[in-house]
Amino acid sequence: MSENNEISDSKQKVENVIVVGGGPAGYTAALYTARANLEPLVFEGFQWGGQLQNTTDVENYPGYPEGIMGPEMMSQFRAQAERFGTRFVTDDVDRIELSDGGVQKVFLGDEEYRAKTVILAMGAEPKRLGIPGEMELAGRGVSTCGVCDGAFFKGHRVLVIGGGDSAMEDSIFISKFADELTIVNRRDEFRASKIMHDRALEVPNIDTLTPFIPEEFVAGEDGKLKTVRMRHAETGEESEVEATGAFVAIGHVPRSEVVKGQVGTDEDGYIVTEPGSTRTNLAGVFAVGDVVDHTYRQAVTAAGTGCMGALDAERYLRDSAPPVEAHWFPGGEPVEMDIAPTAP
Ligand code: NAP
Repeated sequence: MSENNEISDSKQKVENVIVVGGGPAGYTAALYTARANLEPLVFEGFQWGGQLQNTTDVENYPGYPEGIMGPEMMSQFRAQAERFGTRFVTDDVDRIELSDGGVQKVFLGDEEYRAKTVILAMGAEPKRLGIPGEMELAGRGVSTCGVCDGAFFKGHRVLVIGGGDSAMEDSIFISKFADELTIVNRRDEFRASKIMHDRALEVPNIDTLTPFIPEEFVAGEDGKLKTVRMRHAETGEESEVEATGAFVAIGHVPRSEVVKGQVGTDEDGYIVTEPGSTRTNLAGVFAVGDVVDHTYRQAVTAAGTGCMGALDAERYLRDSAPPVEAHWFPGGEPVEMDIAPTAP
């Protein structure tokens, strides 16, 4: 049977596990649940591979002493999960209806997919400044991914906005291409770790500008970025800095929008799990990777929690009665039962 037929058949039944997300966390959850014969169905997103799809050399994932390219590593994660029977839907989920211990529903347009457990692994995405010109000039000088776009700025004058480790890491990378690079931070102090900050400042073509808040990305006549309008954070003095490239590196936001208001999150939207586990406040709903983790955010930690999510889901399936909508018949596939409501 083709993969598509298997998936369209799967719409008729209640899956054991649906994984939402195709980064290191999602693929690891898929690998473990597949090896436990739970036949996971993974909604890996249209741009499968997560943030590592936009990364070049990964040098800190154990087991790759020579390093590996991010997209290549994600292909390998995916292939390993597939080897044990994982099925993939390469599309973005439109809607999720979570249940506390019942059937979890995932929608692609009007198509409904159901499961007894769901592992949420949607990851995180870069934060935006929300200022004029940011979206309009995306791809025309403004970028959120130094590693993806740095090489396009050979010989340019570039700004990197942000003062955390991401800004330092991006600056070091982009400085290999750009002629001049200025890190613009809204405070005089930098949030980045000392080692990363020192490393960036050691690079001869990197300098810093503080405390300045970007207010607008301004295009030149050619429609590409020409200057960035900024305000001094203390004096309010306005200034305009010339730059043909600007990289926004101010952190990330969790991609939890699709389950907003249904599952417990913190004030920044990260899904809250019980300490030391991947259990959310809803029975049968687990969350793993960067959609939970605002501290470590590493491929290896995401993969680790993906494994935890799979084991938690497996234990839940073992120990909980199946939801009434998904009774198992001995030796058979799960089927939906049309159960009339009982009289009060
Ligand atoms: P972060 O640590 O949250 O830093 C965000 C930076 O952007 C801060 O300087 C922040 O300023 C600034 N910022 C936020 N919103 C802003 C806005 N609207 N306008 C102007 N500036 C704004 O985020 P991150 O750098 O992405 O790092 C996230 C985590 O990943 C950290 O734990 C970090 O250590 C880790 N990481 C590690 C590495 C590495 O070790 N190789 C690389 C990348 C990331 P304030 O300080 O004023 O809030």
